[in-house]
Amino acid sequence: MYDPKSLKAEEFIEHEEILDTLAYAEKNKHNAELIDSILEKARLRKGLSHRDAAVLLDCDIEEKNNEIYALAEQIKKDFYGNRIVLFAPLYLSNYCVNGCLYCPYHHTNKHIARKKLTQEEVKREVIALQDMGHKRLAIEAGEDPVNNPIEYILECIDTIYSIKHKNGAIRRVNVNIAATTVENYRKLKDAGIGTYILFQETYHKESYERLHPTGPKHNYAYHTEAMDRAMEGGIDDVGLGVLFGLELYRYEFAGLLMHAEHLEAVHGVGPHTISVPRIRHADDIDPDAFDNGIDDDTFAKLVACIRIAVPYTGMIVSTRESQKCRERVLHLGISQISGGSRTSVGGYVQPEPEEEKSEQFDVIDSRTLDQVVNWLMRMDYIPSFCTACYREGRTGDRFMSLCKSGQIQNCCHPNALMTLKEYLIDYASEDTRQVGLKLIEREIDNVKSDKVKEILRANLINIENGKRDFRF
Ligand code: SF4
Ligand code: SF4
Repeated sequence: MYDPKSLKAEEFIEHEEILDTLAYAEKNKHNAELIDSILEKARLRKGLSHRDAAVLLDCDIEEKNNEIYALAEQIKKDFYGNRIVLFAPLYLSNYCVNGCLYCPYHHTNKHIARKKLTQEEVKREVIALQDMGHKRLAIEAGEDPVNNPIEYILECIDTIYSIKHKNGAIRRVNVNIAATTVENYRKLKDAGIGTYILFQETYHKESYERLHPTGPKHNYAYHTEAMDRAMEGGIDDVGLGVLFGLELYRYEFAGLLMHAEHLEAVHGVGPHTISVPRIRHADDIDPDAFDNGIDDDTFAKLVACIRIAVPYTGMIVSTRESQKCRERVLHLGISQISGGSRTSVGGYVQPEPEEEKSEQFDVIDSRTLDQVVNWLMRMDYIPSFCTACYREGRTGDRFMSLCKSGQIQNCCHPNALMTLKEYLIDYASEDTRQVGLKLIEREIDNVKSDKVKEILRANLINIENGKRDFRF
């Protein structure tokens, strides 16, 4: 019955296959010989099957776990270097007709402030985000065909791309909205979106249906098959994720990797990104009401094992996590983080009064973008505001083949330095600017090609002289 090529949710995320995988992992968690052979396979950097990866996740031999962490770190370095791409979420509307038990936007929450940005308000939010230095947004909206129809989302995307304020511009809009039709995905593609992101929340069908008691999201198959429709609609960069804490993390881990294998098998390209949110406190949501919360050690192990299993897939961690936790997982595989985020509708222009709160979850890492950029550079990471790939038509399988051959590095590294330089000149505090300029000088020497180095140096001078938006 399990068939990664099937287009039916219950066949490519097959419950029995997951249970067998978990039993196999449990049985082999002390099997040093098998774990060695899986690590050997993983060192080829071609990824791992969900079965092999599940054994690594369960492995409880300390020495082997240290090898797992070391390998994750090495793969992270090989594929992503020391760059971390930055983005911010932009909440457009928290009207929602669904009844998700873990989200305060569920329609039975009658006391949360309901808000929907007008185009004028979108413009003000985007200017506030541009003034922080952001170039890449993920737009978020609840599911509500009356308040947030696709036309509204498309209008917002147009508005966002149209705003040029001082040297600011949003160059990539990723979209996180409810599962929809092929026709609507096509419209999003035509609007020039980057990645379409949709979290599965949980791959466990029974739990999924219990956690989504009402509304269109109750339909497990329609939700789980959304990425296939998105790809049919021409969107070839899609982002997966689950909400850790709802179900057993081992189950979700296997489900996530099976979903990635399915996309690869059917569409020839795996997920562009995987997000790893953990359930958090928010308005009427108490995370302790969910039994499957995971501690920081388990979270780190999950990140490391995902990194090893899908080396070409970007990994995202948001401000749901503390500075300390983010610091730990950056080493192990995270390639994108949000910074300076507000999770309320309209929160970038002004903080909300207590009686009008509209946040989706409590932000744990509440530092400003400048503080996040400074912190990254002091740990020797290069904060990157790069958005080059989809603007250069490097998406889907074209992007993946550049990733797999390692050639993408020739673009990512100089692009990171050029976009960082823009940030330092236009938005950074004096201290951040000084730290950043020194970092750029050091990093120029790490560009391998002399020709690229020469163009990079010229562009960095052009940026000093007021020109913007260079990219490889
Ligand atoms: S998770 Fe999404 S669909 Fe569910 S209530 Fe929240 S906004 Fe609505
Ligand atoms: S060059 Fe492409 S892959 Fe590299 S950071 Fe920029 S957008 Fe991402």
